[in-house]
Amino acid sequence: MVRKIVPNTFLVSGGGLATELKIGQLSYTPELDAVAHSEGDDVIVKIVMDAMTIKRQGWKSAIASGKLAPYYIGDLNGRPKLLYEGDSPRNLDALPFADLEFLRRDIDGNPLLDWYLRVPIWSTSANNSSAVPWQDEDVVPKTTSVSSRGCKYHCSYCYRETQGGDNWGVRSAEHIVAEIIHNVERYGERFHGFPDDNSAIRPRRFDRLAELFKQHGLNVKWGTHTRLDEMAGLNKTTYQTAESMARAGCTYVGFGPESASPPVLEAIGKG
Ligand code: SF4
Repeated sequence: MVRKIVPNTFLVSGGGLATELKIGQLSYTPELDAVAHSEGDDVIVKIVMDAMTIKRQGWKSAIASGKLAPYYIGDLNGRPKLLYEGDSPRNLDALPFADLEFLRRDIDGNPLLDWYLRVPIWSTSANNSSAVPWQDEDVVPKTTSVSSRGCKYHCSYCYRETQGGDNWGVRSAEHIVAEIIHNVERYGERFHGFPDDNSAIRPRRFDRLAELFKQHGLNVKWGTHTRLDEMAGLNKTTYQTAESMARAGCTYVGFGPESASPPVLEAIGKG
């Protein structure tokens, strides 16, 4: 559709599918000019620079100038293609918070930011499958951001590389609290969603979060995703994770147990 409406636009796909298929996605979706796999924080700058070069100079001259290096990979099905490789930020605290003001209104005047704040992250009205114990009005306004990226486990069905995979990283409690305070002051946030792959990857960090919530008198509740075995104290690294999270204001944890059958858990690499 985009290619039909604006034929000369530079189309790039990222995220889970792009990260899993890489060059394969260029065949799977031939309308794309480029695919960007893994995390996008650094490579997005190069993507925008390349798009500007192509727009100003045209494809032929942009390619001949060498400015599309190192991600230009030649022609595929008669069209030039690029394959971008994202990397993991060394320090997640160095990244700025998302600027939600960009969502204030869309081009047709729709109040996107208001819609985003007023719909719970997990609920029937959010149209996701999560079972929740609350009334929607008790968990809005909400905002969302990840508190960690990546995961050290290797479940065979999981596209965790899109958030760093084995190069997992966590934001500090100080960084998270600064964002929540900002969102409370600006948007009256009452609930924060952390849709991490596995937020209990370093469980002890929730203790510091609890201290800071207390210190700042924050009455914001939050929810996240992690593993059942980590919460249930079945792992060597586990540390009263559930208690620590609850002390820090956590009221919701989403799990994907996948199966209760040991052979199935073994087969899918659940660990
Ligand atoms: S534990 Fe969760 S996030 Fe980690 S690899 Fe398995 S499914 Fe993916």
